[in-house]
Amino acid sequence: MTTKLTIPTRKTVIERVKREGFQLGAVMPFHYSRALLRAFDIHPMEIWGPPHVEPMDGRQHFPEYTCQVVQKATRFLQTEQAHDIDCILIPHTCDSLQGMASVFIDFIKLPQPVFTLYHPRGRRPSDLEFLENEFRVLSQKIADFTGKTLSEERLHHEIDFEERADRLMERISTNRGEYQLTDREFYTFLRSREFLPVQDFMNLAEELPTGKADLKGPGILLSGIVPEPMDLFDHINEFGAHVIADDLACCSRRIYKAPDETDAFKRLAKQLTSMPPDPTISTPYAERFDYLIDRMKQSSSQAVIVFDVKFCEPELFYLPMFEDAMREAGWPFIYIENELTPELPEQVLNRINSFVEVLL
Ligand code: SF4
Repeated sequence: MTTKLTIPTRKTVIERVKREGFQLGAVMPFHYSRALLRAFDIHPMEIWGPPHVEPMDGRQHFPEYTCQVVQKATRFLQTEQAHDIDCILIPHTCDSLQGMASVFIDFIKLPQPVFTLYHPRGRRPSDLEFLENEFRVLSQKIADFTGKTLSEERLHHEIDFEERADRLMERISTNRGEYQLTDREFYTFLRSREFLPVQDFMNLAEELPTGKADLKGPGILLSGIVPEPMDLFDHINEFGAHVIADDLACCSRRIYKAPDETDAFKRLAKQLTSMPPDPTISTPYAERFDYLIDRMKQSSSQAVIVFDVKFCEPELFYLPMFEDAMREAGWPFIYIENELTPELPEQVLNRINSFVEVLL
């Protein structure tokens, strides 16, 4: 891929933030507060696999039907490549990640401390109170680890940055056709937020080449957890279609609202519960599908591809109803599951190709 954007590698970012005095926090998917970590001078670096890692040792600790995000990350965190990491945050996104946190806390002792963050599934006042308390507990644990005292002013400042970055993500994600980038370049940019300092991400956003995008064939809404391997986008383009919108956990499902709140912890809790409908927070079916139908219409998408990590339970719970809702609304729908392979298998490519062919 030749990208018109210069995005530093993870390695370069790690070297730089370390030079600047930050510690490195490895974060598992996917709802958490970057602002809280940065308020303690911890740079968050997200781990979505990584795809190139062999899951071998990870497999020993989990049932065979555990997704590869967890298996590979478990392996990766025990390798030499993870030695730069100072602490690990594992949000309770699903049972697999809860299991991973337990394995690291109770069985495999890593040199780094492992923090957890539990999410409420509902949206009652008691749920917000629960999450606010989770953030306070997490903050205290990080304070004990770093030896630093949290400045609420700094935390507000960091939350302000995140809110600005979210507004940029929102504007860019919902206007795919206005950026002269290939799908792969576009999503490489959106996903750079997984590891770039927030200011770098915002600077990059301002540099995106604007103008009518050269998008060929039907527009597709891409749903799922993470589009790995990224050559998925090249193949969709090669088969004659393009991705016009997404419902990806690593991208648009993390565009939070900006709550009006003066208490920093309440603000974090309100922000983190304001995400779009999402299987991992048990959004009611009707609410999620109404939202997706709106996204399909607003983006003029003509079909849905759910590209899923194999054995991802939260996504699978919604799948039959998701397919029914989209087909009833008249949109072709395909579900593809894949392990986090470095390249897409031939069988997957054939299925995507056939799906696109019927749209043309
Ligand atoms: S892919 Fe699914 S099951 Fe695996 S960690 Fe992510 S949400 Fe959990």
